[in-house]
Amino acid sequence: MIPQETVDKILDTAQIADVVGDYVSLKRRGASLVACCPFHNEKTPSFYVTPSKGIYKCFGCGKAGTAVGFVMEMEHCEYPDALRLLAKKYNIEIQEEEESAEQIQQRQHRESLLLVSQFAMQFFSAALKSGEGRDVGYAYLRRRGLEDATIERFHLGWAPRGRRTLVDAAVAAGYKEEYLVDAGLAVRNEDGTLRDKFRERVMFPIFSVSGRVIAFSGRTLRSDIDAKYVNTADTEIYKKSNILLGIYHAKSEMARMQKCYLVEGNVDMVMMYQHGIKNVVASCGTALTTEQVRLIKRFTDNVTLMYDGDSAGIHAAEKGTPLLLSEGLNVRLVLLPDGMDPDEFCRSRSLDEVRSFFDRNECDFIEFLSTRLLQESAGDPVRKSELINRIVDIIACIPDQIKKSVYIQQTALRFGIEESLIYNRIKQEKNRNRSPLGQTAQAQEVQPVQAYEPENRLLAPAERDLLGFLLGHGCTFLDFESDSQYYSSNEEDRLTVADFIRCSFLDSDVSMVNSLYARIYDAYYELYDQGDQQDRIVKKLLDSPDRQMASQVLSLSSEKHDLTVKDFRDSLTAVPSWLVKNVPKALLVYAERRLQNDIEGLKRKLVVCSEDTEREALMKEIVLTLTKQKLIKQKLDREKK
Ligand SMILES: [Zn+2]
Repeated sequence: MIPQETVDKILDTAQIADVVGDYVSLKRRGASLVACCPFHNEKTPSFYVTPSKGIYKCFGCGKAGTAVGFVMEMEHCEYPDALRLLAKKYNIEIQEEEESAEQIQQRQHRESLLLVSQFAMQFFSAALKSGEGRDVGYAYLRRRGLEDATIERFHLGWAPRGRRTLVDAAVAAGYKEEYLVDAGLAVRNEDGTLRDKFRERVMFPIFSVSGRVIAFSGRTLRSDIDAKYVNTADTEIYKKSNILLGIYHAKSEMARMQKCYLVEGNVDMVMMYQHGIKNVVASCGTALTTEQVRLIKRFTDNVTLMYDGDSAGIHAAEKGTPLLLSEGLNVRLVLLPDGMDPDEFCRSRSLDEVRSFFDRNECDFIEFLSTRLLQESAGDPVRKSELINRIVDIIACIPDQIKKSVYIQQTALRFGIEESLIYNRIKQEKNRNRSPLGQTAQAQEVQPVQAYEPENRLLAPAERDLLGFLLGHGCTFLDFESDSQYYSSNEEDRLTVADFIRCSFLDSDVSMVNSLYARIYDAYYELYDQGDQQDRIVKKLLDSPDRQMASQVLSLSSEKHDLTVKDFRDSLTAVPSWLVKNVPKALLVYAERRLQNDIEGLKRKLVVCSEDTEREALMKEIVLTLTKQKLIKQKLDREKK
C-alpha cells in the first residue's frame, strides 16, 4: 500500500511531457507536443501531449489519459505499479504502509540482489573491453556479426577465467558474500569460501520486463567443455519460467507492431534486433510456459514462431502451439530456408530482404501443419486419420468459438470430411480431459478499460452535457443579469456552476441514472466540497485509480466544451455569459428528458396492466407528465428565439 500523501506527491510531480518523452521523441507544435503514437503504427504523428493540461491524446487510435495512465498503458501494469515507476523516475521515496518487518527485510534483500546483479553486469561489460575478454569474447561477438552498439545495448560481457575475479571485485566494492550466492553469481565451496559461478564465458544479461538485470546466461567458447550454456538457476529475483529473453527491449515495438517474433536462442534474438526487427524475444530453447505466453499477450495477441525448416524445428513449434492457442494468441510460422537459424539468415541479408521474406513466407500455423501432414500421409488412410486427430486436438485449444469454427471449417474442407465429425472429436476429448478444478484454475487477468455503455440511453446525452459543464467550468461563478429569474442582488448568494446544478438536482430530488456518470458526479462534489480548485479536481479525477471513470472524465472534459473551435460564434462570446445562458438550459433539457423517461416507463406499465382502475390511474399520470413536459418544451422554444 502506498500512502495517499505519497500518491498525491507522485501525481503532482509527474510531468506528462517528461514521462511520455522517455518512450517517444516529442516535437513541439504550438502549445502541444506531437509524436508518432507508441500504441499504434503510424507514419505521420497524431499523438498529442498537452503539458498545460497534463494529458496525452492520440487522434489515430483514441488512446488518451494522464501521466499515470500513460505508464499503465505503456508498461501494461496496474495502477500501483505505475505509481511506483513514476516514483522511481522522480526519486520519490515510497514508505509502503503496513509493511511488516519481515516484508521490509525481504524487499531490501531483493533490492540488494538486484544491485549486486547490476554490479556484476558492469563488471562483465568492463572485462569484455580488455585483455582476454577483448581477445576472446569480444572477438567472438564481432565474428558473429554483432556491432558495438548492439553489444552496448544488451550489455554483453565477459566472465574472466580466474576462480574468483567477480567475487573479489564485488566484495571489495562492499557487497556481502551472501548476496553474490543468493543472486546466483557465486557458489560456496565446501570450506565456506566462494568461487565465481561464471568463468571464461561470454555473458548475456537477462532483463526483467522493466529493464533491471535479474540473471545471466553464459556461453563458453571452448570446445572441450560440455555445457555450452550456463544459466542462472531460479533465485528470489529470477524465475526462469516467468521471463522471456529480450522482452524489455522488444515490448514497445511488440505493442506498436502488434506482433512478436519468437526465436530459440539469445544470439538469434540480439541479431534480429540489430537488424532492425526489434519485436523479437527468445525462449532460450526450453519449452514455453503459461507465464511466458501471458507475458507476450500483455503486449500483443499475434506471435510468429521462427524455426529451422527441418522436422525437429517443426516438432518444436507443434509442441509449443497448443499453449499459445489456448491463451488466445494467433500463431503464425516462418520457416527459414536450408536449415538456417535466424542469426545466419539475417546476417547475409538487408533489412528489406529479411522483412519481405518474412512477409511472403509467414503462414498460419494450423494451415501449415495441415498441408504438411496431408502431403506426408498421402495414400495412407490410417495415418491420415491419426493426423487429422492431431490437428483437431490443436484446434480444440482455441478459446474463441468463432475462430475455432473457422479452423474447423477449413480443416474439414481440406481433408474432405464432415465438420460434425470434428466437433464430435472435440467434444469427446473435452469430456475426457475435464478436471474438477479446470474451470476455476484460470488466473485473473488485467482487463483493459472497457468502453462504457450507458444503462439508460435516453438520458445519457443530457447527463453527459451536465457533466461537461461541471468538469469544464464547475467552479466558475454564474453572474445572472438583473432581469433573470435566478438573479440575486446579494453577493453572498452568488452560485457557481456546480452549486447551481446541485441545487437543481436537490430541488427536483433526482440523481444521475447512468452508473458511471453518477460516480463521476459524486466524485466531483466530494472534491468540490473539500475546497479544491477546478483544475485540481479535474486532475484528481483524471488520475483516479478508477480507470473507467478517468477515461470518461478525459473524454468529457476535452470534448465539445474545450477542444471545439468549429463554433466560431461561441468562441467569441465570453465564457461567463455563455454559461449563464447554457447551464440553466442544459438543466431544462435534462428535466424534459427525465419526464420523457417517466412517460416511457408509464407506457410500458400500461401495456402489461390488466386492472381497469390501475389503467386509469396510469393514463392520468401520463397526461399529467405530458403537460409538465409541454411546459418545459415551450420554455425551451422561447429561449431559442
Ligand atoms: Zn494511437
